[in-house]
Amino acid sequence: MKKIISDLIRQSNSIAIGGHVRPDGDCVGSCMGMYSYIAEHFPDKEVDVYLTDIPAAFDFIVCDEALEHGHQGDYDLYIAQDCGDVDRLEGSIEKFQSAKNTICIDHHISNTEFADHNYVVPEASSASELICTLLPIEEMSEFTAKALYTGIIHDTGVFRHSCTGRQTMEIAGKLIEKGFDFGKIIDESFYQKTYKQLKCMGYCLENAVSEYDGKLCYAVADYEFINSTGATSEHFEGTIDQMRTTEGVEVALLLTEYNPGEVKVSMRSNQYVDVSKIAVANGGGGHVRAAGATIRKPIDEALATVKELIWTEL
Ligand code: AMP
Ligand code: MN
Ligand code: MN
Repeated sequence: MKKIISDLIRQSNSIAIGGHVRPDGDCVGSCMGMYSYIAEHFPDKEVDVYLTDIPAAFDFIVCDEALEHGHQGDYDLYIAQDCGDVDRLEGSIEKFQSAKNTICIDHHISNTEFADHNYVVPEASSASELICTLLPIEEMSEFTAKALYTGIIHDTGVFRHSCTGRQTMEIAGKLIEKGFDFGKIIDESFYQKTYKQLKCMGYCLENAVSEYDGKLCYAVADYEFINSTGATSEHFEGTIDQMRTTEGVEVALLLTEYNPGEVKVSMRSNQYVDVSKIAVANGGGGHVRAAGATIRKPIDEALATVKELIWTEL
């Protein structure tokens, strides 16, 4: 697979790189890392990144020129990263479908293997980690390494989540040798909150509900709240982790309604509940300990639907 991917990159003159809708740190980090690696090693190729609504916290790893799409017509190659399902590419599905060759590099257990060549490793912490197994770290610039490191720290919750493995740490060790200030990246992209994020998290935590002897903790931000505050998914970053790390909690849920009747359900578990199963049952996906789905129902019904599936597992 390593050879197929490097051959395809070498042979293609125009390359599109895309990740999932509402990109997170791994999505932005892996896409920008792949972009900068190709742009630096193959300056003659046309490379464009398709990501929308990138949270401002990741500005330091965004190459603006990657988002100015210079290429006309079909791409020779589309590389989908950190994306388990073609529908989640949003915005660039047509570019993916019209590309001559397609690759998917991903770690979602629910991945549907939608590309011509699929490199899907559910045990990997992140798509960014996978890219480090495909491209030689020795040949990466400090910028590329920084983007991929950012992706790894975001999907591992700074090396806390169970997806963190020996390979994750070894790769991270090699990346920090490039010399970037990793402490600053962790503080500013992971822990730092804006005032609005603080308030959105505060609202959810204040209204969080504890059920099943404290094993389930959930919070709801309905359309009324979202509409009146103008909150977006980035404003709830970290909220679900605060609930997950509450004493006695096995499953944490966060329901957000960005459009009326369209509920985004985020799920996390600590020890034994497979939340990816519950997400898939509702048309979503993800990992055993972190998954999500979008449910088109009134928010109370969406909550009841998910709770119904969770309580039997608790
Ligand atoms: P989130 O709760 O949005 O942080 O997502 C947790 C994990 O579940 C991530 O790995 C997402 O990629 C995945 N996920 C979230 N929502 C969906 C969805 N609607 N469909 C498929 N996967 C999802
Ligand atoms: Mn992601
Ligand atoms: Mn990821």
